[in-house]
Amino acid sequence: MKMTEPIDRSSVALRGSLRLNEPMAKHVSWRAGGVAGRAYVPADRADLAAFLTTLPKGEPVCFVGLGSNLLVRDGGFHGTVVLMHSRHGAMRLEGDLIRAEAAVACPKVARFAATHGFEGAEFLAGVPGTVGGALAMNAGCYGSETWDVVAKVLTVSRAGKFSERAPADFQTGYRRVELRASRLGEEEWFVAAWFRLRAGDQKRARSRIKELLAKRMAEQPLDLPNAGSVFRNPRGDHAARLIEACGLKGYEIGGARISEKHANFIVNPKGRARAADIEALIGHARETVKERFGIELVPEVRIIGEAA
Ligand SMILES: Cc1cc2nc3c(=O)[nH]c(=O)nc-3n(C[C@H](O)[C@H](O)[C@H](O)COP(=O)(O)OP(=O)(O)OC[C@H]3O[C@@H](n4cnc5c(N)ncnc54)[C@H](O)[C@@H]3O)c2cc1C
Repeated sequence: MKMTEPIDRSSVALRGSLRLNEPMAKHVSWRAGGVAGRAYVPADRADLAAFLTTLPKGEPVCFVGLGSNLLVRDGGFHGTVVLMHSRHGAMRLEGDLIRAEAAVACPKVARFAATHGFEGAEFLAGVPGTVGGALAMNAGCYGSETWDVVAKVLTVSRAGKFSERAPADFQTGYRRVELRASRLGEEEWFVAAWFRLRAGDQKRARSRIKELLAKRMAEQPLDLPNAGSVFRNPRGDHAARLIEACGLKGYEIGGARISEKHANFIVNPKGRARAADIEALIGHARETVKERFGIELVPEVRIIGEAA
């Protein structure tokens, strides 16, 4: 593992916890992969900003929420990950908006919204990531997307500066989010969001959440480590249909397998898959679909770090 340049903690009193060579399998839902050179758990927003200013110039940084769309290669990530998820992340009503910190898990936002009689956030109940991850990915399902309901966001930059930004500051699309003014995910990250939802009926919102979760339970291999849909759906088609039509359900490489339940999911059934097995399986599915249908599948999952 390449040594990471030490950070200068002398000028700032940091209150969070810093770990070296942190095994990232603990922090990603695939339960596989290598270590991060450095992992920081900020104490709060001010501490996060202070920490970012201590990083060596050019240090690769990756914010991690619940790691439900992320894989770190077996050779590790030679940089710093910031572990954002917190069970204590704050959420509150501000006028007719819901403000949630990036650390909050999406299902909590869905439940909080329903409890306060808002509709439109039910889809978030089945997205097992954080608000920060949902903003970065424009997570969505069942006809809704995160940025449909964002009123504004708060970001932090590498220089430790906070900015309130409007949706118009971003270019968003299907699982795609770019910040016009800066490099999102390299120079600027999400720390909070305000959601604008429609006033509705508490009971209806709750029963919609139940219905969507039941649909997921029936269709997705939620009992095995996975990272949700591996590929984006090509226009007018479904990645799962194409992979299944190639006869790849159940296909295995090392410890990784294409789910028999949902062909766009790769599972780690025994918890023994290496990141390389998962990546090889992604490559195999891509090549097979390309050969058979001439369609280039584009991965939705993010892969970082170096091969072993
Ligand atoms: C069972 C299952 C079902 C899923 N269903 C869906 C679904 O229906 N729809 C859908 O869209 N996705 C789905 N996913 C994928 C995943 O849950 C979403 O992409 C989610 O938004 C990722 O959030 P996270 O906090 O886990 O992000 P992570 O996986 O930790 O990170 C994902 C990306 O976001 C970046 N990021 C994370 N936090 C921040 C931040 N604060 N600021 C800037 N960048 C950040 C990371 O650097 C990384 O590039 C599913 C996953 C699983 C395991």
